[in-house]
Amino acid sequence: MRVCALYPDLMNIYADRGNLLLLQRRCEWRGIGFSLSASGLGEPLDPDAADLFYIGGGQDRDQRLCALDLAEVKREGLHAAAQRGAALLAVCGGYQLLGHSYEMGDETLPGAGLVDLRTVRSDGPRLIGNVAIEVELDGEAGGTRVLAGFENHGGRTQLGAGERPLGRVLRGHGNDGASGFEGVQRGNVIGTYLHGPLLPKNVWLADWLIARALGRQEPLPPLDDALEVAAHAEARRAAGV
Ligand code: GLN
Repeated sequence: MRVCALYPDLMNIYADRGNLLLLQRRCEWRGIGFSLSASGLGEPLDPDAADLFYIGGGQDRDQRLCALDLAEVKREGLHAAAQRGAALLAVCGGYQLLGHSYEMGDETLPGAGLVDLRTVRSDGPRLIGNVAIEVELDGEAGGTRVLAGFENHGGRTQLGAGERPLGRVLRGHGNDGASGFEGVQRGNVIGTYLHGPLLPKNVWLADWLIARALGRQEPLPPLDDALEVAAHAEARRAAGV
């Protein structure tokens, strides 16, 4: 399993690095080889160099640098990676940058244009708190599941008419605090406002990403998830679901 983190030194707030560590551990515990690489500012993205690409959350200041780089240096590589079915997980600031634009007052940052969404930072309050959403992942036989985490964003995201949200908000604000939608999913590309870190509290999503990234049809061997299940229950309790 080859994972490539985009801008790991700039886009990593709210313990987003825990997501990468969790992917590593779940692969290694199953005897799946794991390697982690990084693609920083000014470095073109090789679409074949990883099975899963990851972008974490970031402050507006850091997003400005990454947005320009994403639009000018990595855009083509990222589109090619998604096209060939590589998995992509983008959290919060990273999620915002997957779309067409992030409008911050007078300034509009470009995005990767990978999914049809736009984000606007409004004058209203930041959307902060514990959040739970009901999710139905592509190809999951088990029906809906709950994803629990934490959000903190000033931007409000609107999905284009053809895009499918990642989930329906049970508690919290989600994409814009009004639509009842959270995140986006298109094939193996997932964008979400949920930090947490997200994957240690929702290991079934981590396993879905690993399976998708590796093109595995059969379920991954089970692990002892007692601690992870307890963390998930605690995150749900915090969200009141
Ligand atoms: N800077 C973005 C916002 O405030 C994203 C924040 C984040 O990644 N937590 O909307």
